[in-house]
Amino acid sequence: MILCVCFNSFLRKLNCFELHLSLVCNIMAGSGVIENPKENKTLFIKTYGCQMNVYDSDKMAKLLEPLGFILCNSASNADLIILNTCHIREKATEKVFSELGRLRKLKMEGFKSGRKVLLAVAGCVAQAEGSEIITRAPYVDLVFGPQTYHRLPNMVMEATNSRQESEINGAGIIDTDFPVETKFDHLPTDTKSSTSAFLSIQEGCDKFCSFCVVPYTRGTEASRPVEQILHEGINLIKAGAKELVLLGQNVNAYHGLSKSGKEWSLSRLIRELGEIDGLARIRYTTSHPKDMDHELIKAHAEVPQLMPYLHLPIQTGSDRMLKAMNRKHNVAFYVKIIEKLRAARPDIALSSDFIVGHPGETDNDFADTIRLIMEIGYSQAYSFKYSPRPGTPASNLEQLSDATKSDRLQTLQQLLNEQQFSFNRQCINTSQKVLVERRRDRDGRLTGRTPFMQNISFDGPIRLLGELIDINVEQATEKSLFGRVAIKEQYRGHMIMNKNYSEGRKHA
Ligand code: SAM
Ligand code: SF4
Repeated sequence: MILCVCFNSFLRKLNCFELHLSLVCNIMAGSGVIENPKENKTLFIKTYGCQMNVYDSDKMAKLLEPLGFILCNSASNADLIILNTCHIREKATEKVFSELGRLRKLKMEGFKSGRKVLLAVAGCVAQAEGSEIITRAPYVDLVFGPQTYHRLPNMVMEATNSRQESEINGAGIIDTDFPVETKFDHLPTDTKSSTSAFLSIQEGCDKFCSFCVVPYTRGTEASRPVEQILHEGINLIKAGAKELVLLGQNVNAYHGLSKSGKEWSLSRLIRELGEIDGLARIRYTTSHPKDMDHELIKAHAEVPQLMPYLHLPIQTGSDRMLKAMNRKHNVAFYVKIIEKLRAARPDIALSSDFIVGHPGETDNDFADTIRLIMEIGYSQAYSFKYSPRPGTPASNLEQLSDATKSDRLQTLQQLLNEQQFSFNRQCINTSQKVLVERRRDRDGRLTGRTPFMQNISFDGPIRLLGELIDINVEQATEKSLFGRVAIKEQYRGHMIMNKNYSEGRKHA
């Protein structure tokens, strides 16, 4: 699933963060202790791409708090600007370079007025392009990949102390290592959380799909240890989270080590998280069909906190194209998994990613994709024109014309939109449990999500924020639902769904 999110507006919308000025002057940050005279400084982070980048941006902001950085909502006021980038499609990379062009002006204005503005490029574009970024944009101060941001406080200190020779010179610091010690060992504890919180459990990928840069930018597949995840999960819940969204590029390939040294699968981890007092909902994304094992499907039937919604990308409905994409399964395998999921959890809503115009895709292949979509019936889905990524096998093959890709994408999206609208319409006159996540700035309405991941908005008192309440659905559009708070909710207290959780439990 791909989103393009401005981190700051994301945080404001979630109404969840109040980043505090800390008076701490020393920070342990990966490679050493920083002695820093405390000053108040502003930080602007723009986040491109997937939820993992949103998670990383959140952690970067927290890592920089002890240096005195507070988030602001405009680049023009910021002392440090971070672009946390995505390399999945070509346009995203070009967007970063044009954004850097715009930000250059701010850096130059700062220099002229004696104020040092630091400019940083993080994430997968930084990982893939490395020093090329400094070559194309020499005014950039920091370039660091997704695996090194725990060293960010040190890098920022170094850049702050470096001499800026001219108005177009940056500090030129580059860190695109895949370090032995992982960033997860250095992340700060969450003291405030949004109602729905991301929790990264796995990163990287070994599958090497023909079209995808992830194995090159995020590295090989690695799972966080169980204890570390449980610790972060418990902290997030203490800090206000009611829903955990477990993240990974291939989240269902999770195989982290427990305290006793045994490997846990995603289903085992979900069952353990389901025991935490106060955790109402669990979701996970993004999954690969090959890793959708029996135990995970069973968890959908047996873990009440696991929501009846699954994003399970197939990319194409053509066996020929699945082979060309190196997806390692065929259409029948995927359909069988969906059948098993529906048998385990009959109301499960399904989502997928689709790529149109991969090299070699014929009209017949595309017709197979349309047929599959009609057969499955998705509640929502994401679709993209194939974008050649340097270094990936498919980028060296003969490419389809953009006109063909655009035509196919339009046809596909029309069908997916119709399915989403139809799914949403079926909810009218039903009552849905909604986790209330935020209050909308534009009209003051509350919004949240149904179990099936639909956005729903309604009028209600602010005290319902963070609550799980019944909403009667009255209207539906392609993208959202509109409803009314069920009367009984006016009198309802705080809801705790789970059994007691003992932190002293024994692990298998
Ligand atoms: N691991 C997940 C899986 O295997 O389905 C997907 C993760 S990938 C980061 C997110 C989505 O981006 C993919 O499912 C795919 O649809 C899309 N994507 C990746 N590379 C792409 C490319 N070169 N062109 C267009 N879309 C691409
Ligand atoms: Fe990319 Fe394929 Fe890995 Fe998904 S499974 S992250 S699409 S290489």
